[in-house]
Amino acid sequence: MKSHSTSKLTQSVHAGSVGDPQFGGVVTPIYPSAAYDYESEVLYPRYYNTPNQKAGVEKLVALENGEDGLLFSSGMAAIMTSIFAMMKAGDHILFQQDLYGGTHHAALHELARYGMEYSMVDVSDLKQFEKAIRKNTRVIYVETPSNPLLRITDLQGVAALAKKYNLVTIIDNTFASPVNQNPIDLGIHIVTHSGTKYIGGHSDICCGAVVSSKKLTAQIRQSAMHFGGSLDAYTCYLVERSLKTIVLRVQQQNENALAIAKFLEADSRISNVYYPGLKNHPGHAIAKRQMPGGFGGMLSFEIKSDPARFTKKLQYIKRAISLGGVESTITQPVKTSHAKLTAAERKAVGISDKLMRLSVGIESAEDLIQDISQAL
Ligand SMILES: *Cc1c(COP(=O)(O)O)cnc(C)c1O
Repeated sequence: MKSHSTSKLTQSVHAGSVGDPQFGGVVTPIYPSAAYDYESEVLYPRYYNTPNQKAGVEKLVALENGEDGLLFSSGMAAIMTSIFAMMKAGDHILFQQDLYGGTHHAALHELARYGMEYSMVDVSDLKQFEKAIRKNTRVIYVETPSNPLLRITDLQGVAALAKKYNLVTIIDNTFASPVNQNPIDLGIHIVTHSGTKYIGGHSDICCGAVVSSKKLTAQIRQSAMHFGGSLDAYTCYLVERSLKTIVLRVQQQNENALAIAKFLEADSRISNVYYPGLKNHPGHAIAKRQMPGGFGGMLSFEIKSDPARFTKKLQYIKRAISLGGVESTITQPVKTSHAKLTAAERKAVGISDKLMRLSVGIESAEDLIQDISQAL
């Protein structure tokens, strides 16, 4: 169903749902068929056009203010398919330096083998970033807020650069979620998500998504049909179902994260807090402009005491990788996402041994603060 409302609350519930004309049920039925009549429209899961794939992605497209999109079997499938669809041998892709570990690793190990060039450059100074654009640059790839230090990239600045040099822009919008940040409104071309995080929201599905214009989505679909990373009907159904509550979940996560960040900032047992909602965060002014929905549920901080002891004592907050679920989870980047870096490399990117990354859930902020305080 096309939702004409511009309210994310209404869109999250109604956009995309196909209903159940046969029995009058209020939710989209699950259509598991992998074989359809070829005399009508050709439907096939790997063509990204079956009913549950379309229902799930339409809701997301509405929330991201895009024109079309695709659901994938993981965030990495969405990201790598988008990159490969836009690039060819001899092209150069300019990444911002702060990247999700999996994307960083994939760039290092895949692109050169296909004759593609890449560089990773600090995007905090756009003039320096611009200098890294080459004659053969085709794509700019950004991620904001970044993992794990929640650095903010100026999306309008990046979109202006892309326009000047006629480049395609891709963003990983996972940390912000479509509730807080809609990059297409700011001139970014292709939005990718690890749907495993806020879109799924319950730490129980693995999926990915792309939202873009009709034209670029068609181009990505062409490659996607070859690479084969489509999402099954059951998980598509769960994506659609999960998106119905994404606005409520993320609003609560925004509020909780801000309350926790303010608590940590004022606590003498903490040495640094990284949250774009705090006034002293270097990206606060830009974040305020480009994240109208809120500053998100991710934050990180450095503690003065022993991280292993701290995480062991937490009661509600679970020690676990991944993020974006209704339950709060915590990681120590030195042991997880950045374990493969040397101490010197970690220092260069600003990740200390005492850094903790918190994915704030939808529990009561008071309980979460109490939990952190007792564990400290
Ligand atoms: C998890 C994550 C990914 C990768 O997503 P998968 O669903 O694990 O493939 C990409 N980007 C960010 C920011 C992530 O957190």
